[in-house]
Amino acid sequence: MEDFCCSNCFNPKRDRFHAFIREFGFASDETCPYCKSNSGTKIDTDKLGIFIKMGIDRAYDDTKEEGENHLSLFDILNDRVILFEWENHREHDLTKKLFENIGDVDKKTYRLKLESEGDDEEQYRIWRNFEHDCKYYNRFFDLTPRGEGKANRRTDMLRKLYETCLKNLKEEIEPGTELYRARVIDSKFKRGRDYDLDEASIGPADKTNSQSGRMNPEGISYFYVAEDEATALKEGRLRANERVLIGRFKTIKELTVIDWTKANIYEKAVDIFSPKYNPEMAVYQDFLRRFAIEVGKPNETEKTIEYVATQLVAEYVRGYGFDGIKYDSAVGNGFDVVFFYGPEITPESGDYNVLPKYTEIAQLTDVREFKIKIEYFLEP
Ligand SMILES: [Zn+2]
Repeated sequence: MEDFCCSNCFNPKRDRFHAFIREFGFASDETCPYCKSNSGTKIDTDKLGIFIKMGIDRAYDDTKEEGENHLSLFDILNDRVILFEWENHREHDLTKKLFENIGDVDKKTYRLKLESEGDDEEQYRIWRNFEHDCKYYNRFFDLTPRGEGKANRRTDMLRKLYETCLKNLKEEIEPGTELYRARVIDSKFKRGRDYDLDEASIGPADKTNSQSGRMNPEGISYFYVAEDEATALKEGRLRANERVLIGRFKTIKELTVIDWTKANIYEKAVDIFSPKYNPEMAVYQDFLRRFAIEVGKPNETEKTIEYVATQLVAEYVRGYGFDGIKYDSAVGNGFDVVFFYGPEITPESGDYNVLPKYTEIAQLTDVREFKIKIEYFLEP
């Protein structure tokens, strides 16, 4: 096997990595044995392997133990760093070749430095632990006196996350923006008796009907909408022959949201090939990414405990005065927004706190009913 690979073998977005190839590589019109192109800058695989290993060492410790967060060198490069160009189908062979002369590095497993045992304070900051504690240790963190044991670490972590990343994801949604909402109609329901083509039927559920969702606990009803009809329908996980209401809304004022769809801007700031790699940012980036994955999972109403961590993050964001959170739909091509606004209701008493009504921010402009004729096939 040849002792070189080329710049075209790798993800063109890894700027710092490509800068290294340009500096230490060589020009040649030989065909690259890995990606089969001949236009890339060639580089000696041993030399590149040493450079990659330096990057890995910035962020990961090697370990002899097995564990769920222990990754192989290939997993790190392929899944975390996303180093290989997708048309390079020989990424396994290339990984082997890159490290063949640096001891047994590709036989070890690795984990993020901040996940190492003994570093309890730092370890606490990651999503997995946050989620676990929200579910099984201490749900209502703002009710706990400060400084008592581990109780307020989540508060500290979220504040740092906000200061470091979240506040930079602020976005305005302009008045006049159209957004959609779908609702599956119970097969026993009759139009005119149980629902109608009206605001009450397509707006957020009132508190007695409010089920928990990825962003809202049971009893606190938020206004979930999607960028377009297709996304709203896919979010509904509809089946054939189900009847559905679809409502079109228009926002009536400027709304400030955290735009989680932009959370990947930090992926560039957590480049293990940069000497400025910052392990703390890497942890925040991981947190942002996992939150995005969690909110995209389908709702399973029997397992409401699965939503606790994302609900807490949403409520925390709401505490900063944001109107909502915008996030990528996991099933549709568009985005979704959850607005922290509730149903149109008459409060029982002026003494209670009530969520502001969604009618303060959006107007229903159209509502239609139809039946799903075909089975929906969701992309994996
Ligand atoms: Zn190549």
